[in-house]
Amino acid sequence: MKSSGKNVLIIGSGLGSLASALRLASKGYKVRILEKDSQAGGRLNQYKENGFTFDLGPSFMSMTFEFDELFRDCGIKNPLKMIKLDPLYRVQFRGNSKVYNIYTDLNKLSEEFNDLEPDFYGKAVKYLDKASEFYHDTENKVIRKNFDNLFDYIISISSVPLKHLPYLKKNLWKLLDQTFDSEEVKVIFSLVAFFLGSTPFKTPSVYSLLNYTEFRHNGYWAVEGGMYKIVELLLAELDKLGVEIIYNTEISGIGNFNGNVESFTDKNGKSWNADMFIVNADAASFRGQVLKRKDFSEKKLDAMEWSLAPFTVYLGIKGKINNLYHHNYFLGNDFSGYAGKIFTSSVIPSKPYYYVNMSSYSDRNCAPEGCENIFILCPVPDLRFKNNWNDKEVLAGEIIKDLSERISFDLESNIIVKKILSPDDWESKFNLYRGSGLGLSHGMMQVGGFRPSNKDEKFSNLFYVGASTVPGTGLPMVLISSKLVTERVLNEH
Ligand SMILES: Cc1cc2nc3c(=O)[nH]c(=O)nc-3n(C[C@H](O)[C@H](O)[C@H](O)COP(=O)(O)OP(=O)(O)OC[C@H]3O[C@@H](n4cnc5c(N)ncnc54)[C@H](O)[C@@H]3O)c2cc1C
Repeated sequence: MKSSGKNVLIIGSGLGSLASALRLASKGYKVRILEKDSQAGGRLNQYKENGFTFDLGPSFMSMTFEFDELFRDCGIKNPLKMIKLDPLYRVQFRGNSKVYNIYTDLNKLSEEFNDLEPDFYGKAVKYLDKASEFYHDTENKVIRKNFDNLFDYIISISSVPLKHLPYLKKNLWKLLDQTFDSEEVKVIFSLVAFFLGSTPFKTPSVYSLLNYTEFRHNGYWAVEGGMYKIVELLLAELDKLGVEIIYNTEISGIGNFNGNVESFTDKNGKSWNADMFIVNADAASFRGQVLKRKDFSEKKLDAMEWSLAPFTVYLGIKGKINNLYHHNYFLGNDFSGYAGKIFTSSVIPSKPYYYVNMSSYSDRNCAPEGCENIFILCPVPDLRFKNNWNDKEVLAGEIIKDLSERISFDLESNIIVKKILSPDDWESKFNLYRGSGLGLSHGMMQVGGFRPSNKDEKFSNLFYVGASTVPGTGLPMVLISSKLVTERVLNEH
């Protein structure tokens, strides 16, 4: 074990931070974490009220082997207990009483689509074969790799087999449109774009690889005890390694620097020194708002592509709900019309499309006896387009009414707990730029060598980890981000 004894200060305590802290502390670095909120985890967080426990953001994950690797790299037995989701999720379209169960077993899934898509099985196998090849041909060249500059990135992607070129030329919807005939099947396969905080019309078709990860590679998993168990177990390991976490402390400016950063200052003017710094706050907006970099000025940040903002509702409900599964999508019947407006509209969406998670379906400890916990996520425009959320109750009310009708359960009269977070809440709680839920989007000009680097342009002891640096957003990507930044620190310091 390399024991550098060097001090590392991490700004923010999201998953990227906690995983990097574990990797570095297990190699002998002295790690301290500063967090603006009163609780660790960032978006991977928890809300408790009246005996109900809600996961605040993430409700499931793919590529769970990234956790195995994290703990293995640190010499720890993986303490997480995962629950495999089968079916992956359920989908309902407005005005259609059929509920689609999305199974990973393509034979079973074919039965769901029997009346909709002739030869679904053959088409899906061909589609997933291609996505699988693309995933394995690119993962080590694009996703799991540090790039020192744009040239380095271009060299790396130019070694991807040319047969994958067509993926670069179309969006995900076009690829699905060329593969399937049924609108419902296309919409269901395109939901992976939603996990990137986007729509399939704006998402490059390379992300069909996410269909491969959901259907074939590793599927989707929840965590026994709720997603926040991840944070609790990481905190327990960090505690054993002497990592200190200081809460309610927000870094607002750079202190002394002289080629290297010597210190950052918090909002109360206190100075924080270290040998090395890792920023887990958004890698783009931190460069603009704290480091005052011209390339990340407010104007430039606003011109970047950001993922959709979350509008989330947490309901503690009295009674047993039989028509909801762990993961459920409630969609409308004008997908392209809705998706076309959702990014830039300044009014709340009418007939919203939304996702519902009821973790009490798989884990009875999340709600009191005879009750259910419901988490609703409706993607909405970020604060550049709609910056006043005084009407949050109206949108929440509309969704609750719509959901009640679609599951034949009167939610409104059985509410014990109700909490709403609109994009302005997400922005102020975790410094999410303009309330964007998943950080910078994943268009071809904002990934790989084009994404804000995990190594600072100016200071050699300043690094970044998390959703808006490489490789991208979502829990598995953020775990890979922690591996990449740790590699940099170990190689360079
Ligand atoms: C509603 C929602 C649902 C999601 N669902 C899923 C899902 O089901 N599956 C999945 O894989 N992913 C999901 N995601 C994405 C996932 O949550 C993120 O990609 C991941 O958690 C981001 O981790 P991060 O390391 O970037 O840190 P973040 O979660 O962004 O944490 C950064 C931390 O830094 C702190 N901070 C910021 N600025 C400062 C400062 N100046 N000083 C001190 N502290 C600061 C913040 O308070 C925060 O705690 C979801 C996200 C949202 C919003």
